[in-house]
Amino acid sequence: MKAHDGLYIDGAWRPAESTDTIEVVNPADEQVIGRVPAGGALDVDTAVRAARAALPGWAATPPAERAARLAALRDALVARKDEIAETVTAELGAPEQFAQAVHAGLPIAVAGSYAELAAQHSFEERIGNSTVLHEPVGVVGAITPWNYPLHQIVAKVAPALAAGCTVVLKPAEDTPLTAQLFAEAVHEAGVPAGVFNLVTGLGPVAGQALAEHPGVDLVSFTGSTAVGKQIGATAGAAVKKVALELGGKSANVILPSADLAKAVNVGVANVMSNSGQTCSAWTRMLVHRDRYDEAVELARTAAAKYGDRIGPLVSAKQQARVRGYIEKGVAEGARLIVGGPESPREKGYFVSPTVFADVTPEMTVAQEEIFGPVLTILPYDDEEDALRIANGTVYGLAGAVWAGDEAEAVAFARRLETGQVDINGGRFNPLAPFGGYKQSGVGRELGPHGLAEYLQTKSLQF
Ligand code: NAP
Ligand code: MG
Repeated sequence: MKAHDGLYIDGAWRPAESTDTIEVVNPADEQVIGRVPAGGALDVDTAVRAARAALPGWAATPPAERAARLAALRDALVARKDEIAETVTAELGAPEQFAQAVHAGLPIAVAGSYAELAAQHSFEERIGNSTVLHEPVGVVGAITPWNYPLHQIVAKVAPALAAGCTVVLKPAEDTPLTAQLFAEAVHEAGVPAGVFNLVTGLGPVAGQALAEHPGVDLVSFTGSTAVGKQIGATAGAAVKKVALELGGKSANVILPSADLAKAVNVGVANVMSNSGQTCSAWTRMLVHRDRYDEAVELARTAAAKYGDRIGPLVSAKQQARVRGYIEKGVAEGARLIVGGPESPREKGYFVSPTVFADVTPEMTVAQEEIFGPVLTILPYDDEEDALRIANGTVYGLAGAVWAGDEAEAVAFARRLETGQVDINGGRFNPLAPFGGYKQSGVGRELGPHGLAEYLQTKSLQF
């Protein structure tokens, strides 16, 4: 894998002030595949200054020209599709086909959607005797995780650029090579110097410096709830805008009238995909007591099929964390029906697809985000019980409802405290607002709602 030994600041790759480096590891075989700089507070400061200097020019660039740069960015990503997929496979461990279709395909679609939205959006509206201007918020500090490395970057940078904001990105330490590829694509797209800047580095060093920097107007963070709370507090103290996309413990509610086999099979696939490292994964399957045993058998068969088909977890740290949760589930009395805490291979950070039955709502494995290929199946007595269990966590990011009749599923979905619900397997929509209720976050990403996060209004009265 190609790795830059510099940071992308003000339109060029420059040596970091800090001499620290990050080793990038392939989680499938534990080999070091590259080294990138671990930027420090001085590097973050240089990048924020570059973004501030570039802000007036980019904010004043006509939306049609910003749209043209975003279309060129999409084209640059398309041209590098194979390279993107290979890089995500190498540093995250994603299977090739999934890396192509999702890790490369989805961000290309999202970049394209913002090329269109930048061109179509009306950055001015009339309300009574006022003209309301939608102006860019300013300099954006973007902090992203490793689980969908390119998607999380594009979901912040594309709407920010469409809005006329400039950006400093601090990507996850585990997946910096994908971020470097993205910076190359931005450069090729002819985005002016300083509009986008990349500082690779560690969360508590570069990430914290970026969140605290007085030159940043909006902090957009995706990652763990623990770090999100800290970033929210820091931003709040400085009266900065903040967007947080945090964890989830989403419920897959299978109502008695549903096509059980379909609901269970799609539900298992949803959890196992990306080795369970998906914030919106339906990690709690809720099944009526009358059909519970049947559902458990279907899930056992479906999960067993995933044995060799899922990739490793991203790191030894995540593998240890997930195995710890599986041990906790066993200790708290859940019934292990597939998988378990033992490592299925000698090399690589693999965890077997794991399913727990007889899970009760208060168990740790039913409350906390595990971020691995672990499904819990909980029985419910009636619809009210299902609703109580579904809404009974601190999270509210996503979910699913299955019923024989679409209207029945929709009526149930209206009562869920969550930001997204898929009805009878409704497919992912890259334009629909994505974000959390409760402790799953603040703000929305994707589509026109994602663009609005990066705008502020000014009202002129006549
Ligand atoms: P994390 O620490 O929250 O990482 C997310 C991003 O924040 C990374 O770029 C990270 O840098 C950075 N960061 C860490 N500490 C920071 C700080 N004090 N100030 C500013 N930025 C900071 O998440 P993680 O440790 O990689 O994963 C832990 C758990 O978080 C997972 O098991 C999962 O439950 C959850 N998670 C959720 C999502 C999601 O999409 N909602 C994504 C990833 C993880 P480093 O890369 O250097 O740590
Ligand atoms: Mg971390």
